[in-house]
Amino acid sequence: MKLPRAQMESLMKAIVESSDDAIISKDLNGIITSWNKGAERLFGYTAEEAVGKPVSILAPPGRNEMPTILDRLKSGERIDHYETVRRAKNGRLLNISLTVSPLYDETGRMTGASKIARDITERTEAANVLAKQSERILRANADLQQFAYVTSHDLQEPLRTILACTEMFLRKSADKLDTGERELLGFVTSAARRMTAMIADLLSYARTIDEDLPVTAVPITEVLEWACNNLRVAIETCDAQIRYDKTVLPVVAGNKVALLQLFQNLLGNALKYRSAEPPRIDITAERQNGMWLFSIADNGIGIAPAYHDKIFGLFQRLHTNQEYSGTGIGLALCRKIVQTHGGRIWVDSELGRGAVFKFTLPADTPS
Ligand code: ADP
Repeated sequence: MKLPRAQMESLMKAIVESSDDAIISKDLNGIITSWNKGAERLFGYTAEEAVGKPVSILAPPGRNEMPTILDRLKSGERIDHYETVRRAKNGRLLNISLTVSPLYDETGRMTGASKIARDITERTEAANVLAKQSERILRANADLQQFAYVTSHDLQEPLRTILACTEMFLRKSADKLDTGERELLGFVTSAARRMTAMIADLLSYARTIDEDLPVTAVPITEVLEWACNNLRVAIETCDAQIRYDKTVLPVVAGNKVALLQLFQNLLGNALKYRSAEPPRIDITAERQNGMWLFSIADNGIGIAPAYHDKIFGLFQRLHTNQEYSGTGIGLALCRKIVQTHGGRIWVDSELGRGAVFKFTLPADTPS
């Protein structure tokens, strides 16, 4: 059904008036010819104040690009989502996205232009905050790498001396010392060894923060075979079964060495934190919202919900070294690796009922 012209015009007028965007028209001399409610809200001028004035009333100080826009329109160009700055009546500068198109009369002659302006100040400010934040993160990462370098070179050396001298002293004079004295020196050496292990772990953690790891198409089955091979002794010692379906495990875009570290740490933990039963570990993957969701489920000792976040922190452990060896860096490393690949990691578990570690990795593979 075609509406009569008068009805069509009043419908168009109502649409323009009710729009949230500022809709303005101007003639070929840049004089404003119409001004809707959205323009009133955005720029602060009423239609009475704006119509008949040059559009340059909206130009920010020292910058009037409007004649150039008009010239581009005259040559038949349309300007889409052009991001620029305009000044409101109260002097406030607004970030706006502009779409400008030429207007023609019935004979096809260009008579002016219509402009749709959308306020993107909030979006621009949010983007600026984000840019500043990512700059801060980059700086923090660089600081951390610098810190790791200093740690390795400046701290490991005196630590090695402490360890070497204590061990030498114990070897030479053990028979002159009583049991209590020997035990004390034993504490010194085991603390120094533990600190050496922590520093080495911290270094490998800092290395994975380097986001320039080479990315290739990595078949997860290969990564798992590699990890199981590295863990063979532990797997055989506790009679563990690691089950996965080669036909459903995907190929993902990632860094092969980092992904090996991820799977090996998670499998290693499933073996280490086993219950009285031989470990049964199931690995699955399914596609969900453009990502691969992996899960590694074990039948081990489980983790109480209160600790589900804590265990992903640096050096966070729920056990003493007498119970289970480790430094508490494995899951922090896993989280870093998953995040560097654009995914996230979490755990579903209850104490005494096994644990299911889940993580996502992007589903696109490089061509
Ligand atoms: P580490 O094994 O060196 O302590 P991780 O960062 O790998 O360090 O793990 C942190 C803590 O999370 C462990 O100390 C352990 O308490 C708990 N944990 C990790 N994986 C499991 C698991 N599969 N089952 C139960 N507890 C686990």
